[in-house]
Amino acid sequence: MHTHATTEQTQPTLVYDIRQSRYLNITGRCTLRCAFCPKQQGSKQIHQYQLALSSQPTTADFLPLLGDVSQFDEYVFCGYGEPTLNLATLLGVAREIKARGGKVRVNTDGLGNLFHKRNILPELASCVDALSVSLNAQDEETYVRHCQPKLKGSFAAVNAFINEAPKYIVRVEVSAIEGLEGVDIDACRALVEAAGCRFKHRKLDIMG
Ligand code: SF4
Repeated sequence: MHTHATTEQTQPTLVYDIRQSRYLNITGRCTLRCAFCPKQQGSKQIHQYQLALSSQPTTADFLPLLGDVSQFDEYVFCGYGEPTLNLATLLGVAREIKARGGKVRVNTDGLGNLFHKRNILPELASCVDALSVSLNAQDEETYVRHCQPKLKGSFAAVNAFINEAPKYIVRVEVSAIEGLEGVDIDACRALVEAAGCRFKHRKLDIMG
């Protein structure tokens, strides 16, 4: 540990605030390699924050960093990887935020069930108020082109997830990004609305 000098200027940021929300950076891991991910472009930062993580932080790492829940509209599990890949920390921290009276949103690629090989929605539903899922494409070919999934069946899995999620969590918003080659925003919207979720139309290069 700490045996060599690093070129990074700053410590990893575990929590950061955007507007009235506190963002929680719980993992750098992800099974996708999206062409539009800042990570793929060599950047380790969102806004001024250094989000690269050298380990998977634990619930205990976050508890002193939550602050006063009454000061924030919501806590967002987001950061620089896929939050459901550090599920123990996600659940531990979210339960504590709920116990303190705060609101919880999770930004996810919707592949948590595929990765964990079980339905994690009942666990999420116990401590998560809202989900923001990235669908990103209307068909598998376009999804694979932009997101380069490491796990087979990822596009089918995110579709299954958005169909299942509204049975457990009331606010499920699903996004696609206008401006990515081959992405048909109207077709994405139709898939999302048929699944019973709210569509969020995003534009390329707008993070957060
Ligand atoms: S899902 Fe998010 S963290 Fe993962 S590669 Fe895509 S943009 Fe990056």
